[in-house]
Order: sequence, then structure tokens, then C-alpha cells
Amino acid sequence: MKLVVLGGGISGRAAVRLAEIRGDFATIVNDSETLELPEADQYIVSPGVHPLRSGLYSQAVERGRPMLSELEFGFENLGGIPVLAVTGTNGKTTTTELTTHLLRRAGLRTAFAGNIGVPLSEIAAAEALKSPSERLEAVVVEVSSFQLELCRDFAPLAAVLLNLESDHVDRYRGGFAEYCAVKRSIFNRVVSGNRIWGLSFSDAGRRVVAVGRQLVLDGRAVIDLDSTRLAAPHNVENLAAAVELALRIVPADWFYSEKFRAAARDFSPGAHRCEVVGSRSGVVYVNDSKATNPAAVLAAVRTFSTPVVLLLGGLDKGMDFSPLKSIVPQLKAAVCYGQCRDKIAGVLAAAGMTPVNCGMDFSAAFEAARRLAGPGDTVLLSPACASFDLFTGYEARGNRFRELVAALPE
Ligand code: ADP
Repeated sequence: MKLVVLGGGISGRAAVRLAEIRGDFATIVNDSETLELPEADQYIVSPGVHPLRSGLYSQAVERGRPMLSELEFGFENLGGIPVLAVTGTNGKTTTTELTTHLLRRAGLRTAFAGNIGVPLSEIAAAEALKSPSERLEAVVVEVSSFQLELCRDFAPLAAVLLNLESDHVDRYRGGFAEYCAVKRSIFNRVVSGNRIWGLSFSDAGRRVVAVGRQLVLDGRAVIDLDSTRLAAPHNVENLAAAVELALRIVPADWFYSEKFRAAARDFSPGAHRCEVVGSRSGVVYVNDSKATNPAAVLAAVRTFSTPVVLLLGGLDKGMDFSPLKSIVPQLKAAVCYGQCRDKIAGVLAAAGMTPVNCGMDFSAAFEAARRLAGPGDTVLLSPACASFDLFTGYEARGNRFRELVAALPE
């Protein structure tokens, strides 16, 4: 079979390796290099290829040949290993890491994959070369809306949809409604009892809930939330989702054991997610560079009881910034920078807070935030936007913030 892979990033390259292991012939095409799309039996599309902006994508549609998401290609070739899938606007990576951590601590050979940075095709390629006794017993897959677009047969054992908020609107002709429909399609091939809705949705059928400061499974407390680093409401949502997912593979008894409590206590959300990076002159500096939409900023700001100087801005994705108005009472000041600084400034000004506007200069924005903060305050980088106007990614943005904090006098 001849396969053509659209997009030569890490997902596309992994798909080619997997195709070769299967004995197929596969080539990569990139929009920048090739104008004429080669003929193929099947096109595999990397998540980075934009359906509305890629010339190659339009040509593939015209050819009328099967088009498959890289995620689905990986899934089809996974040899039946059970998949637990995580999607939603926010909390995907934390929930994916946490679920993987719990499954491993419960003794299962488990890997994570998908939008988290390890293509599912890469896992499938590695598994194909292993003996049956070494194979993974579960894969936890972080799924973006981009990866779901060309999925037909992606059939996880169980899936969670954490929440739905304004993000990536510019990817879809049908705007936010289409974005939500794509996200919900994660449940298309999941049996109804294994369709898990995050705590942000009402769902009478869920087994895991938070009652006061306890996480409760089937009516019995499993852990005191304040004994973990997941006590913030958004992380409680992530923990509840991870336990719901893990329950589809691990017996419920395990969650009442000290092993579960120790595992939950050992887990910390990753870097760039509400991460304290330093403290200078009584001001705490927090890097939440992974907050790339307004809802994530709300979740972050609400975790602080101290006055917050908020540093935000970057590249817009057609998002509705008006939810940011609700956090104005918790802000001491706001500093905007980046491509959509004026759009954000307009929203905050309408709620009574006129931000300092620092143009396209991130260092100047940091300096302005530092000056506005006094002892007892928090400077929070929680940008509400993608980073690509000024940085190569959210990690580079968070690392720059960290460097600027490190350079402040002790
Ligand atoms: P994603 O992979 O969906 O981007 P992450 O787990 O990397 O999510 O978290 C990104 C940011 O989103 C965090 O820094 C935090 O500000 C916010 N966040 C995390 N979990 C949630 C949640 N369940 N609801 C709302 N915001 C969240």
C-alpha cells in the first residue's frame, strides 16, 4: 500500500516509521515543499496540518481517497492494547500524566501518548517490535481536537471529556460549536458506561466526586485532597477524571489502599502549569505559560488568595476573551503584550481595569509587572493565548519568564 503523510513533524515522521514496519511505502509531504500532492491509497494527516489553510489538505479531499488522522493510524496498529483517552479544553496533559502514574503504581505496564508529545504511531511502532510478554497493558492518550478531526474508528476503552471552553475557534468554519462537536466525537466509539464527563459537566452517573475536602469513590472517601498537590479546584477535576479512567482497568479496592494515597501524594503537575519559579522582595513569581486560553487563566487566578499582577497576551486563536472580566476583582494590576494585547486590554478595561500595554516586548512586560507588584503579591504569567507571535512554544515562553525571574537581584 502506498501512503502519503501530510506534515513532517514528529507525528508525521512516526507515522512513516510505523508504515515501514508494516511493510508499506510511505512518504512525507509538506505544504512548503510540494504543491502537487502525490497519488496514494491513503492519506495520513498530521495534527499540525490546518484543514482551512493547507493546499495539500484541499487536494487530498479532492482526490477522494481515504484520509486518516495520525492518531487513528496509530490506534489501528496498536494490536488491541486498551486505550484510555483524555480530551477537553484544559487539563488534558495533567490528567493524562496522572492517569498514567496511577496505572503504573497499580502495577500495569503503561505509556502515555498523543498530544502530550509522543505520537501514538511511535508507541504502535515500538509495540510491534516487542514480544507479547513485554507489551504495554494500557496506553493513556491525550487527544486534541485536531487529532479527532479525521478519526472514524478510534475506539478507546474509556474516554473523558474534561471541559469545553473557548479555544482554537479559528480552526473551524463552524466556530465554537464545531470545536465542541469535534471534542464530543471522542465518545463516538466508546460504550456508554465508559463515557466520562469531567466535573465541569453535570452527570448523575459518575462514581468519583469531591465532597468537602475529600475525594469520594462510590460513596467512600479515598483521599484528603489537601494532602496532595492537586488541591486547586481545576486539579481536583483532573484527579477525579484520572481515577474514573483508571477504574476502568484497576479494581476499585486499590483506590481505598495506602498505595493509591501514596501515588496521588507523589504527583505534581508538570512545569509551566501554575509553577512557582521564585520569590524576590516578598513577591512570588508563578509560571503558568501553558494557560493558552481564557478559561485556563480563570482557573489559575482563582487559586490565589493574595493580590495578583497578571501578565498576559500572545497569539489569538479567535477566542472569546470576555470571561476574563470575572477575575478583575482579584487582580491588583494587569500587563498586556503580544499580538492580541489590544483585544485583551479592551475586555479588561470594560470591567474597570486598564492594563499596562507593553507592545510586542515580553521583557518590558515582565519589568512592568515586577514594578507593579509589592510584598505579599503574586506575579502570574498566565497568558490566555498561544505563544507563537514571540516564541517557539509555551515552553520557551515559560523558560524566558523563569530566566527573567532568576536575573532579579536576591
Ligand atoms: P492542556 O494539556 O489541556 O493544555 P494542562 O494540564 O497542560 O492542560 O494545563 C494547562 C493549564 O490549564 C494549567 O496551567 C492551568 O492553568 C489550566 N488547567 C489545568 N487543568 C484545568 C482544568 N481541569 N480546568 C481548567 N483549567 C485547567
